Amino acid sequence: MRRLTLTVAMLTASLLFAFGAPDNLSQRLRNHIEYLTSEELAGRKAGTPEGYLAGDYVREHFSRLGLLTFERADYFHNFATTWESGVFRNVVGRIEGKESDSYIVIGAHYDHLGVKKGEIYHGADDNASGTAALLEVARLIKESGHTPRHTLLFAAFDAEEIGMYGSHDLAERLPKGSVTVMINMDMVGWLKQGALRVEGTATLNGAEELISHIAEKHNLAVAPQEFERGIATATDTEPFAKRGFPTLTLNTGSNSPYHKPQDTSDQIDYEGLATIVKGVAELTMAIDNTPEITPSGRIARKHSAGRDGLDMGIAAGFGSNYALYPSSAIVGKELGAVQLGLSLQYVRGHFGARTGLLYDHRKTIVPSDMANPSGEGTKLITHRVTIPVEVMATTNLSIFSYYLGVGGYYSRLLSGHGGSAGMAANPNEWGLQWSVGMRVADIFFEATRRYGLSPLYSAGDNMMSRSAICTLGLFF
Ligand SMILES: [Zn+2]
Repeated sequence: MRRLTLTVAMLTASLLFAFGAPDNLSQRLRNHIEYLTSEELAGRKAGTPEGYLAGDYVREHFSRLGLLTFERADYFHNFATTWESGVFRNVVGRIEGKESDSYIVIGAHYDHLGVKKGEIYHGADDNASGTAALLEVARLIKESGHTPRHTLLFAAFDAEEIGMYGSHDLAERLPKGSVTVMINMDMVGWLKQGALRVEGTATLNGAEELISHIAEKHNLAVAPQEFERGIATATDTEPFAKRGFPTLTLNTGSNSPYHKPQDTSDQIDYEGLATIVKGVAELTMAIDNTPEITPSGRIARKHSAGRDGLDMGIAAGFGSNYALYPSSAIVGKELGAVQLGLSLQYVRGHFGARTGLLYDHRKTIVPSDMANPSGEGTKLITHRVTIPVEVMATTNLSIFSYYLGVGGYYSRLLSGHGGSAGMAANPNEWGLQWSVGMRVADIFFEATRRYGLSPLYSAGDNMMSRSAICTLGLFF
């Protein structure tokens, strides 16, 4: 009897081992990645026959798992891009939840760069690793037999490498507020080099604690980040984040030969990837099961750039300044100008308003004797506080935006010296100004021209300032 119990226990253990052992899962992952990076698939460039083969492979697996389709008769969601002509295809599978119109999206892009100069760019880490992980996360969840609370969407995105068109297509299809989290896997095959980075934990209340708990359980090294790093746009979370959905992006860093033909399947850490897959499957189910995990409303700086709202930052500018005397047609000599201070702006859609509080230091050379303007000059230096006010129009399309501002300014003299009597003494100055600028995430760069006008309306030397300033600024 005892022996039988032991045998049953051993049999159970070996069955568990067969289903749950990492080598089984890692072998499946290896099979996916070896196929996706094979010569036949020639780098899976979006819109090519080889790219279609990769899409077919994902579709085949979704179908075998018995995933449902989403808003289509088939798993394919075709779309076009503005960058390249052709037909592109996301592959989307679904497990229906009890609350059918609230979603958790698990995504990974399956396209890569194709062939360049006769060399295949295999894209094993980028992003056959994420695609393979997506298939296995879907399998683990589906085979658990659990009916989730949210509808789970498994999305293999096409055309990421040419501008994240696939993720954009799906994100735009999902109603605002309908996604609890979008979990993205992009370059997850190099755990051997360190930890799994989980970026964006601050977008979801309670996420960090949950992730640490799951990582500990699976003995998975994780490096949680509140928000995604880096200025540049990098991955498929962006269109979701810009729609206000919480996002987590998972990667094992940029250790692999990024966008090089050497990113091959033999370098992938399959055991590590298997651990990640189990962790992500569990994380997905845990978020699904835990009503306390809710969107925090916080969004990465890089994703909020160009979005509506208030921004405050610091700015430093350098340029030139000269004086002009309309009454006598005398033009002073141009010298330097420096500006330092705070910048504040509010944007809604394509329009906004901006202001600031600037220390404004200007120099110019003016005639020592106005009766003899071509004679010797004298340096006039002023220290001022200047408050610009502009209305602005902005492209507001993405992480890069261009803007134009038109308005005026008020400037108060703090101190001044040089020039002829009274020149520096005019304490209040106002005028017109305009700016053109470019913003990349938190950083802005702009050129401003300022035209003093108030002296036209006051007695005295009638001196008007003209400034041209180039400013570099940073929003906090
Ligand atoms: Zn990628």
